[in-house]
Amino acid sequence: MQSKGLNNQRVRQYNKKVMMTLLYREKTASKSTLARLSQLSIPAVGKILADLQSEGRISHSAVNLHTRGLGGGSYQVAVDGTCILCMNVSPYRIESILTDSLITPQSPFQLTEIAVKTPEALLAQIEKLFHGYRKTYRDVPIKLALSVHGQVNPTTGVSQNMPQAPWNSAIEMKYLLEERLNTELLLDNDCVMLALAEKWQHQHEQHDFCVINVDYGIGSSFVINQQIYRGTLFGSGQIGHAIIDPDGSLCSCGRHGCLETVASLSAMKNQARGWLMAQRPANDETVPRTPSTQELIDRYHQGDPAVRAMVMRAARALGLSLYNFLNILNINHIYLYGRSCGFGDAWLNTVREQTGLNPFDRTDSVKIMATHVGLGTLSRAQQIMGIGYLYVEHALEQMA
Ligand SMILES: [Zn+2]
Repeated sequence: MQSKGLNNQRVRQYNKKVMMTLLYREKTASKSTLARLSQLSIPAVGKILADLQSEGRISHSAVNLHTRGLGGGSYQVAVDGTCILCMNVSPYRIESILTDSLITPQSPFQLTEIAVKTPEALLAQIEKLFHGYRKTYRDVPIKLALSVHGQVNPTTGVSQNMPQAPWNSAIEMKYLLEERLNTELLLDNDCVMLALAEKWQHQHEQHDFCVINVDYGIGSSFVINQQIYRGTLFGSGQIGHAIIDPDGSLCSCGRHGCLETVASLSAMKNQARGWLMAQRPANDETVPRTPSTQELIDRYHQGDPAVRAMVMRAARALGLSLYNFLNILNINHIYLYGRSCGFGDAWLNTVREQTGLNPFDRTDSVKIMATHVGLGTLSRAQQIMGIGYLYVEHALEQMA
């Protein structure tokens, strides 16, 4: 909250930013729509739009968006033809899509399976893809927006730790790639990508919500008062390392019994591998391989009792951790993403049952919205495009 008053100059600046934010969300809008969304009068909106137009930040087109009512055309954020290559990077796959600077897709969504053993090999794969796009989309300047698995520092552009990777060292991604590709690069982790995707592409504007990525690990990202909350450690795993059982298994973070050791796909796959090991005939010395995510999900849906029990235990642990988080932050919307969502309704309902214990939901005197825990509905392409909004937020920050 602002503690100081705003003079006219500051109010004007603030309103310009509000208008730009609405235009980035809506992509194109009429004066009356902008007035309705900003709750300002049409003459006030007209004045702000005129200012923005004279600064070259927006453009006006004569196309009317409404078939009835007043004309007056429509407004868009001015674009300079630069494209953004959005990439989600892990040691096993790179997902990518090219967008314009308004984050409208310009290419099909692409999934590239990779298997890299070193940071250098990973960088080489990113470079190769970048050059591929540059070749297909000639004469278009391309900037990079990277979503990187694990812990990253968005300020320095360093991938600090990638749990899925066979290496432990940090990678100076921004520094190295900007130099080699002669372009600009912004990066953040994969949970921030999902939070940005929800924040900007969800049908209705939302002030406070949380996305949980239940995949190889368990990451979370919070949007509070429409701002991504990054905390001090730039960690994506706050919730994944909530301790649910002090006597539990050893976690990658060095502590025991973190949520990830029970409810993440990597933990469940390891456990399943342990059973396969135990089921071997006495004379069989072969070490069974770890089942793939799809194999685990298939076994679950086929009704394998051991797998079902394990998955339900994971769902209960996740739900209970969410319950604790909800009580602290009073966030009422939670979107679940990640491949664990493939476990479907029974899994989701078990997560919900635990969070449904939220005592604040039962208060009748104060109207508090019931907690909504649901699967995220954005397509994978929309999820990946979320990282492109780093450039939108950067542009809006520059206006302050
Ligand atoms: Zn941990």
